[in-house]
Amino acid sequence: MKQAPLDQNPMEPAPPHLEVRDLRVHFDGIHALHGVSFQVPQGQIVTLIGANGAGKTSILRAISGLTPYTGSITFEGRDLRRVPPHRIVGLGIAHVPEGRGIFGNLTVRENLRLATWQRHDPEGIETDFERVLSTFPRLRERLRQPGGTLSGGEQQMLAVGRALMSRARLLLLDEPSMGMSPRLVQELFAIIQEINRTHTTILLVEQNANQALRIASHAYVLETGRITLAGTGQELLGDPRVKEAYLGTGATGKGANDAKLQ
Ligand code: ATP
Repeated sequence: MKQAPLDQNPMEPAPPHLEVRDLRVHFDGIHALHGVSFQVPQGQIVTLIGANGAGKTSILRAISGLTPYTGSITFEGRDLRRVPPHRIVGLGIAHVPEGRGIFGNLTVRENLRLATWQRHDPEGIETDFERVLSTFPRLRERLRQPGGTLSGGEQQMLAVGRALMSRARLLLLDEPSMGMSPRLVQELFAIIQEINRTHTTILLVEQNANQALRIASHAYVLETGRITLAGTGQELLGDPRVKEAYLGTGATGKGANDAKLQ
Protein backbone atom coordinates (compact mmCIF):
# COMPACT_ATOMS: atom_id res chain seq x y z
CA MET A 1 0.00 0.00 0.00
CA LYS A 2 1.22 3.49 -0.79
CA GLN A 3 0.80 6.56 1.30
CA ALA A 4 -0.12 10.14 0.41
CA PRO A 5 0.86 12.50 -1.11
CA LEU A 6 -0.61 10.79 -4.11
CA ASP A 7 0.77 12.13 -7.32
CA GLN A 8 -0.07 8.97 -9.10
CA ASN A 9 -2.68 6.31 -8.81
CA PRO A 10 -1.34 3.38 -6.82
CA MET A 11 -3.82 1.03 -8.47
CA GLU A 12 -3.69 -0.94 -11.66
CA PRO A 13 -3.71 1.15 -14.84
CA ALA A 14 -7.38 1.19 -15.85
CA PRO A 15 -8.58 4.17 -17.90
CA PRO A 16 -9.84 6.84 -15.46
CA HIS A 17 -13.53 7.61 -15.80
CA LEU A 18 -13.13 10.46 -13.37
CA GLU A 19 -9.87 12.15 -12.49
CA VAL A 20 -9.51 14.63 -9.63
CA ARG A 21 -6.24 16.52 -9.37
CA ASP A 22 -5.07 18.85 -6.63
CA LEU A 23 -8.62 19.68 -5.57
CA ARG A 24 -8.86 22.56 -3.10
CA VAL A 25 -12.04 23.91 -1.55
CA HIS A 26 -12.44 26.55 1.08
CA PHE A 27 -15.38 28.25 2.74
CA ASP A 28 -14.83 31.66 4.35
CA GLY A 29 -11.38 30.82 5.60
CA ILE A 30 -12.10 27.15 6.38
CA HIS A 31 -9.92 24.93 4.21
CA ALA A 32 -12.09 21.91 3.55
CA LEU A 33 -9.80 20.27 0.95
CA HIS A 34 -6.04 20.81 0.72
CA GLY A 35 -5.14 19.39 -2.67
CA VAL A 36 -6.81 16.03 -3.14
CA SER A 37 -5.94 13.82 -6.11
CA PHE A 38 -7.48 10.49 -7.03
CA GLN A 39 -8.93 8.53 -9.92
CA VAL A 40 -12.06 6.52 -10.41
CA PRO A 41 -11.44 3.85 -13.07
CA GLN A 42 -14.19 3.06 -15.55
CA GLY A 43 -16.76 0.58 -14.29
CA GLN A 44 -15.37 0.26 -10.76
CA ILE A 45 -16.54 1.10 -7.26
CA VAL A 46 -14.28 3.55 -5.46
CA THR A 47 -14.92 4.57 -1.88
CA LEU A 48 -13.85 7.58 0.16
CA ILE A 49 -13.90 7.01 3.88
CA GLY A 50 -13.16 9.43 6.68
CA ALA A 51 -14.47 11.01 9.84
CA ASN A 52 -17.13 13.74 9.99
CA GLY A 53 -15.84 16.95 8.47
CA ALA A 54 -12.97 15.25 6.59
CA GLY A 55 -14.17 16.77 3.32
CA LYS A 56 -15.93 13.85 1.63
CA THR A 57 -19.13 15.73 0.81
CA SER A 58 -17.11 18.69 -0.47
CA ILE A 59 -15.44 16.40 -3.03
CA LEU A 60 -18.77 15.13 -4.35
CA ARG A 61 -20.23 18.65 -4.44
CA ALA A 62 -17.22 19.93 -6.36
CA ILE A 63 -17.58 17.13 -8.92
CA SER A 64 -21.26 18.06 -9.39
CA GLY A 65 -20.38 21.73 -9.86
CA LEU A 66 -22.10 22.76 -6.61
CA THR A 67 -18.99 24.04 -4.80
CA PRO A 68 -16.29 26.37 -6.18
CA TYR A 69 -12.81 24.83 -6.25
CA THR A 70 -9.34 25.04 -7.66
CA GLY A 71 -7.54 22.11 -9.24
CA SER A 72 -9.05 19.99 -11.97
CA ILE A 73 -11.86 17.48 -12.31
CA THR A 74 -12.05 15.53 -15.55
CA PHE A 75 -14.89 13.21 -16.52
CA GLU A 76 -14.49 11.02 -19.62
CA GLY A 77 -11.63 13.28 -20.65
CA ARG A 78 -13.70 16.47 -20.32
CA ASP A 79 -12.71 19.26 -17.94
CA LEU A 80 -15.75 19.98 -15.72
CA ARG A 81 -14.55 23.29 -14.37
CA ARG A 82 -16.83 25.64 -16.28
CA VAL A 83 -19.67 23.21 -16.75
CA PRO A 84 -22.82 24.24 -14.82
CA PRO A 85 -24.45 21.65 -12.54
CA HIS A 86 -27.42 20.88 -14.81
CA ARG A 87 -25.06 20.13 -17.70
CA ILE A 88 -22.95 17.91 -15.48
CA VAL A 89 -26.10 15.83 -14.88
CA GLY A 90 -26.63 15.80 -18.65
CA LEU A 91 -23.08 14.48 -19.16
CA GLY A 92 -23.98 11.37 -17.16
CA ILE A 93 -23.08 12.12 -13.55
CA ALA A 94 -25.81 11.58 -10.96
CA HIS A 95 -25.37 12.74 -7.38
CA VAL A 96 -27.38 11.21 -4.55
CA PRO A 97 -26.75 13.73 -1.77
CA GLU A 98 -26.58 13.06 1.93
CA GLY A 99 -30.12 13.56 3.21
CA ARG A 100 -31.51 11.93 0.07
CA GLY A 101 -32.65 14.78 -2.17
CA ILE A 102 -36.13 13.60 -3.05
CA PHE A 103 -39.33 15.61 -3.43
CA GLY A 104 -41.32 14.79 -0.30
CA ASN A 105 -44.69 15.97 -1.58
CA LEU A 106 -44.45 14.27 -4.97
CA THR A 107 -45.36 10.61 -5.35
CA VAL A 108 -42.73 7.93 -5.86
CA ARG A 109 -43.76 7.71 -9.52
CA GLU A 110 -43.45 11.49 -9.98
CA ASN A 111 -40.06 11.53 -8.27
CA LEU A 112 -38.78 8.89 -10.68
CA ARG A 113 -40.32 10.56 -13.74
CA LEU A 114 -38.95 13.95 -12.84
CA ALA A 115 -35.43 12.53 -12.79
CA THR A 116 -35.71 12.00 -16.57
CA TRP A 117 -36.31 15.66 -17.41
CA GLN A 118 -33.18 15.83 -19.55
CA ARG A 119 -33.97 12.71 -21.53
CA HIS A 120 -35.86 12.49 -24.81
CA ASP A 121 -36.09 8.72 -25.26
CA PRO A 122 -39.55 7.58 -24.03
CA GLU A 123 -38.82 3.89 -24.66
CA GLY A 124 -35.53 4.02 -22.78
CA ILE A 125 -37.26 5.84 -19.93
CA GLU A 126 -39.91 3.09 -19.76
CA THR A 127 -37.19 0.40 -19.70
CA ASP A 128 -35.33 2.18 -16.93
CA PHE A 129 -38.53 2.73 -14.95
CA GLU A 130 -39.13 -1.03 -14.98
CA ARG A 131 -35.49 -1.68 -14.11
CA VAL A 132 -35.68 0.60 -11.08
CA LEU A 133 -38.92 -1.01 -9.91
CA SER A 134 -37.49 -4.50 -10.25
CA THR A 135 -34.32 -3.41 -8.45
CA PHE A 136 -36.40 -1.85 -5.67
CA PRO A 137 -39.65 -3.84 -5.37
CA ARG A 138 -40.59 -1.74 -2.33
CA LEU A 139 -40.89 1.29 -4.59
CA ARG A 140 -43.28 -0.53 -6.91
CA GLU A 141 -45.57 -1.14 -3.94
CA ARG A 142 -45.48 2.56 -3.10
CA LEU A 143 -45.71 4.25 -6.49
CA ARG A 144 -48.68 6.44 -5.51
CA GLN A 145 -47.35 7.33 -2.08
CA PRO A 146 -45.76 10.76 -1.48
CA GLY A 147 -41.98 10.40 -1.16
CA GLY A 148 -42.00 12.14 2.21
CA THR A 149 -44.15 9.41 3.74
CA LEU A 150 -41.66 6.61 2.95
CA SER A 151 -39.38 5.22 5.64
CA GLY A 152 -35.82 6.59 5.71
CA GLY A 153 -34.44 3.51 3.97
CA GLU A 154 -37.13 3.63 1.29
CA GLN A 155 -36.41 7.31 0.67
CA GLN A 156 -32.78 6.38 0.18
CA MET A 157 -33.79 3.74 -2.35
CA LEU A 158 -35.96 6.31 -4.13
CA ALA A 159 -32.98 8.69 -4.28
CA VAL A 160 -30.82 5.96 -5.84
CA GLY A 161 -33.72 5.06 -8.17
CA ARG A 162 -33.87 8.69 -9.31
CA ALA A 163 -30.16 8.59 -10.09
CA LEU A 164 -30.65 5.42 -12.15
CA MET A 165 -33.51 7.05 -14.09
CA SER A 166 -31.15 9.79 -15.17
CA ARG A 167 -29.03 7.10 -16.97
CA ALA A 168 -25.93 8.06 -15.08
CA ARG A 169 -22.63 6.50 -16.12
CA LEU A 170 -21.05 7.79 -12.91
CA LEU A 171 -23.01 7.61 -9.67
CA LEU A 172 -21.92 9.75 -6.70
CA LEU A 173 -23.39 8.31 -3.50
CA ASP A 174 -23.08 10.35 -0.30
CA GLU A 175 -23.64 8.24 2.82
CA PRO A 176 -26.38 6.10 1.25
CA SER A 177 -26.67 3.79 4.27
CA MET A 178 -27.21 6.63 6.73
CA GLY A 179 -30.11 5.90 9.06
CA MET A 180 -30.85 2.44 7.63
CA SER A 181 -31.46 -0.68 9.64
CA PRO A 182 -28.67 -3.30 9.39
CA ARG A 183 -30.89 -5.49 7.22
CA LEU A 184 -31.59 -2.66 4.77
CA VAL A 185 -27.91 -1.75 4.73
CA GLN A 186 -27.09 -5.27 3.52
CA GLU A 187 -29.77 -4.97 0.85
CA LEU A 188 -28.53 -1.55 -0.23
CA PHE A 189 -24.90 -2.65 -0.62
CA ALA A 190 -26.00 -5.66 -2.66
CA ILE A 191 -27.99 -3.29 -4.89
CA ILE A 192 -25.00 -0.94 -5.27
CA GLN A 193 -22.96 -3.91 -6.50
CA GLU A 194 -25.74 -4.92 -8.86
CA ILE A 195 -25.92 -1.39 -10.29
CA ASN A 196 -22.15 -1.47 -10.76
CA ARG A 197 -22.41 -4.76 -12.66
CA THR A 198 -24.51 -2.93 -15.25
CA HIS A 199 -21.44 -0.83 -16.10
CA THR A 200 -22.17 2.13 -13.83
CA THR A 201 -19.04 3.56 -12.23
CA ILE A 202 -19.61 4.41 -8.57
CA LEU A 203 -17.92 6.87 -6.22
CA LEU A 204 -19.16 6.00 -2.76
CA VAL A 205 -18.76 8.13 0.35
CA GLU A 206 -19.51 6.14 3.49
CA GLN A 207 -19.28 6.20 7.25
CA ASN A 208 -19.94 2.47 7.13
CA ALA A 209 -16.30 1.82 6.22
CA ASN A 210 -16.52 -1.92 6.70
CA GLN A 211 -19.25 -2.44 4.11
CA ALA A 212 -17.84 0.16 1.73
CA LEU A 213 -14.33 -1.36 1.71
CA ARG A 214 -15.77 -4.81 1.10
CA ILE A 215 -17.37 -3.81 -2.18
CA ALA A 216 -14.81 -1.24 -3.37
CA SER A 217 -12.03 -2.07 -5.81
CA HIS A 218 -10.17 1.06 -4.72
CA ALA A 219 -10.39 3.12 -1.57
CA TYR A 220 -9.04 6.33 -0.11
CA VAL A 221 -8.93 7.56 3.47
CA LEU A 222 -9.56 11.28 3.83
CA GLU A 223 -8.50 13.21 6.92
CA THR A 224 -9.03 16.92 7.44
CA GLY A 225 -9.02 17.58 3.73
CA ARG A 226 -6.13 15.31 2.72
CA ILE A 227 -5.83 11.76 1.44
CA THR A 228 -3.75 9.90 3.98
CA LEU A 229 -4.05 6.31 2.74
CA ALA A 230 -4.94 4.61 -0.51
CA GLY A 231 -5.19 1.03 -1.63
CA THR A 232 -7.58 -1.63 -2.75
CA GLY A 233 -10.66 -2.11 -0.61
CA GLN A 234 -9.18 -5.37 0.67
CA GLU A 235 -5.85 -3.75 1.52
CA LEU A 236 -7.50 -1.03 3.57
CA LEU A 237 -9.79 -3.54 5.28
CA GLY A 238 -6.67 -5.32 6.51
CA ASP A 239 -4.71 -2.20 7.45
CA PRO A 240 -4.27 -1.87 11.23
CA ARG A 241 -4.59 1.93 11.08
CA VAL A 242 -7.91 1.66 9.26
CA LYS A 243 -9.06 -1.04 11.66
CA GLU A 244 -8.19 1.16 14.60
CA ALA A 245 -9.73 4.37 13.32
CA TYR A 246 -12.67 3.31 11.17
CA LEU A 247 -13.60 -0.30 11.73
CA GLY A 248 -13.66 -0.34 15.52
CA THR A 249 -11.57 -3.53 15.56
CA GLY A 250 -8.13 -2.16 16.43
CA ALA A 251 -5.95 -3.34 19.28
CA THR A 252 -7.32 -0.73 21.69
CA GLY A 253 -10.86 -1.42 20.62
CA LYS A 254 -11.48 2.26 19.88
CA GLY A 255 -14.64 3.04 17.96
CA ALA A 256 -14.96 4.32 14.43
CA ASN A 257 -13.60 7.81 13.84
CA ASP A 258 -12.10 8.12 17.33
CA ALA A 259 -8.52 7.90 16.19
CA LYS A 260 -6.46 9.72 13.60
CA LEU A 261 -4.21 8.12 11.04
CA GLN A 262 -0.74 9.57 11.02
P1 ATP B 1 -19.78 14.72 7.03
O1 ATP B 1 -19.69 13.26 6.96
O2 ATP B 1 -19.99 15.24 8.41
O3 ATP B 1 -20.71 15.34 6.02
P2 ATP B 1 -17.57 15.33 5.29
O4 ATP B 1 -16.36 14.47 5.33
O5 ATP B 1 -18.53 15.09 4.20
O6 ATP B 1 -18.31 15.27 6.68
P3 ATP B 1 -17.61 18.09 4.48
O7 ATP B 1 -19.09 18.18 4.65
O8 ATP B 1 -17.08 18.07 3.11
O9 ATP B 1 -17.05 16.81 5.26
O10 ATP B 1 -16.94 19.29 5.29
C1 ATP B 1 -15.54 19.55 5.28
C2 ATP B 1 -15.27 20.81 6.08
O11 ATP B 1 -15.82 21.95 5.43
C3 ATP B 1 -15.89 20.79 7.47
O12 ATP B 1 -15.00 21.47 8.34
C4 ATP B 1 -17.16 21.56 7.30
O13 ATP B 1 -17.54 22.18 8.52
C5 ATP B 1 -16.77 22.61 6.27
N1 ATP B 1 -17.90 23.02 5.42
C6 ATP B 1 -18.61 22.24 4.61
N2 ATP B 1 -19.57 22.93 3.95
C7 ATP B 1 -19.46 24.22 4.41
C8 ATP B 1 -20.14 25.44 4.13
N3 ATP B 1 -21.13 25.49 3.23
N4 ATP B 1 -19.75 26.55 4.78
C9 ATP B 1 -18.72 26.52 5.66
N5 ATP B 1 -18.02 25.41 5.97
C10 ATP B 1 -18.38 24.26 5.35
